[in-house]
Amino acid sequence: MLCLSRSQYCSAVQCPKMLWMKKHMPEQFEDSYASPAIRDRGTDVGRLAMGLFGEYAEVPFGDCGEMIGKTAELLENGTHVIAEASFSFDGLFCSVDLLINHGHRHVEMVGVKSSAKISEFCQHDVAYQYYVLTRSGFTVESVRLAHVNSGYVRHGDLDLQRLFSLEDMTDQTRRRQPEVEKRIRFLTEYMTQTSEPEQPISEGCFSPYDCGFFGYCGRDLPKPNIFDVRGIQLRAKMEYYKKGIISFEDIERSRILKPDRMLQIACELHNRPPLIDRSAVRSFLGRLSFPLYFLDFESFQPAVPLYENCSPYDQIVFQYSLHCMESERGELKHREYLAQPGEDPRRSVAERLCRDIPLNACTLVYNMSFEKGRIRELAGLYPGLSNHLMNVHDHIVDLMVPFQKRQYYARAMQGSHSIKHVLPALFPDDPELDYNNLEGVHNGEEAAAAFGKMKDLEPEEMEKCRQDLLKYCRLDTLAMVRIWEKLREAVG
Ligand code: SF4
Repeated sequence: MLCLSRSQYCSAVQCPKMLWMKKHMPEQFEDSYASPAIRDRGTDVGRLAMGLFGEYAEVPFGDCGEMIGKTAELLENGTHVIAEASFSFDGLFCSVDLLINHGHRHVEMVGVKSSAKISEFCQHDVAYQYYVLTRSGFTVESVRLAHVNSGYVRHGDLDLQRLFSLEDMTDQTRRRQPEVEKRIRFLTEYMTQTSEPEQPISEGCFSPYDCGFFGYCGRDLPKPNIFDVRGIQLRAKMEYYKKGIISFEDIERSRILKPDRMLQIACELHNRPPLIDRSAVRSFLGRLSFPLYFLDFESFQPAVPLYENCSPYDQIVFQYSLHCMESERGELKHREYLAQPGEDPRRSVAERLCRDIPLNACTLVYNMSFEKGRIRELAGLYPGLSNHLMNVHDHIVDLMVPFQKRQYYARAMQGSHSIKHVLPALFPDDPELDYNNLEGVHNGEEAAAAFGKMKDLEPEEMEKCRQDLLKYCRLDTLAMVRIWEKLREAVG
């Protein structure tokens, strides 16, 4: 008998082989899906949405049989709103995010999504749940999806009715029922195959999220290949792949890419030494002046607005690191700020930034759209600090530019100009600049997750977390200092 859950059904929509692999070759799975921060975001939204229709009873997560039994008991008792109500039909299991019970097996289904938009996957997800419920003998009067309303601005207490938008999905869910039935019939047979099914590489291998089996399914592709080329869209890569333009040799022969993209191919194939446009790099460096600051922000992006005047998914800066050189031969100094967990960090970040960066100081950041965007938001929030903040904003220079414009390119950058590729390419064996040598926090997503959880930690753990965050952010600006020095060295 076919046994399926909601997430397994959705995997099968993306690619049936994914489901087969999970059952028959789970050891080939490489986890590349959502970061802890993204997972926690979904949980926060799910918990809040439980209260969308007033009082509710929640079916505790656990053994499927027990969840189904508890649901039956609550339905029998006439509980009006049930969170995680669970059902199964013929091996197909589902927990409904919110179920509104009208008695006599008449119910309404409400799915909850932490995203601001309803993807096609959400539609498949509710269609599967509708199938299980109706086959179990329930009349589903309506199907709605509650998703985060990105236009909501928090004023005072959270307003759940405005935080969530409810979309009626009843008609389209009913229209999808023949498709659900057909897919389940197909999967019933497909999953019993003992030999590995044939499945061509498709966009589904990467979208809507990376399938953790690509390392296995793509094992016969030449390395590197068209999917390793940076800066072109997945759809274009698929078209080239289908035309047989797969290896870097194929790409070079067919000359399909623009010159700056061909650089990745040529450097890889011919093992070229770094290409440096000295005049362009010199001109970039000529725009900088002392005192010179190197700034990096860390932020988190809660789906649920935590503070006054915040909207869902606003980027909230909670930390920065700042290296500074007063003069060309001056000492490298460091300042940093990390807000207190649990408090609104925006005002304190804005004030400290104004204290730490003087007016008219040249400030280097890496990928300036992010830092500039956050500074503009802080300036908008705090008019008294706005002049100073906008002065910092207007004196920002983007250290990414020479790499983005391919004025400095090394093979090891693998076609990318992100600092996480540029740094190891320029300093391949420097343990001081290796993020893998950090403890606890190694990237921005981990930093966001760590800060979000910090308020709930015991003092000792909190201090450890604080130190991990400070070390991580400090490395970001130290990396920028070293990259700037490397550029200077390159032009003599
Ligand atoms: S890598 Fe592609 S073909 Fe293989 S299981 Fe994943 S989605 Fe399917």
